[in-house]
Amino acid sequence: MSIKYIKVPSYDLYSDMAYKYKNGELRIPEHRYIMAQHLRRCLTSDEVVHHKNGDDSDNRLSNLLLTDKSNHSKIHRKLYSDRIARWQARRAKSVVNAELARNKLLSDST
Ligand SMILES: [Zn+2]
Repeated sequence: MSIKYIKVPSYDLYSDMAYKYKNGELRIPEHRYIMAQHLRRCLTSDEVVHHKNGDDSDNRLSNLLLTDKSNHSKIHRKLYSDRIARWQARRAKSVVNAELARNKLLSDST
């Protein structure tokens, strides 16, 4: 579940997108490299490649979505609020279940 990087030579078509390491190595996050190859151009610094299923290591093209920084934070805010809503629904259900269990105990003991 973590981002993979690939090492590219300086003559690579997409080396402009690479991070340069102190030892001179050039590396590109694999998901950005795959999207760039798909589009046949370098990505801009504002472009973000989102992993649709949330798995950062799943770099199949079908799992990748090209978006920009502002839309990307919207996507993640929405994912976060959906998660909170699911948690609240589960919690409400368990409160109801606990109440039902308590009522059953009371009626069994009479
Ligand atoms: Zn994302």
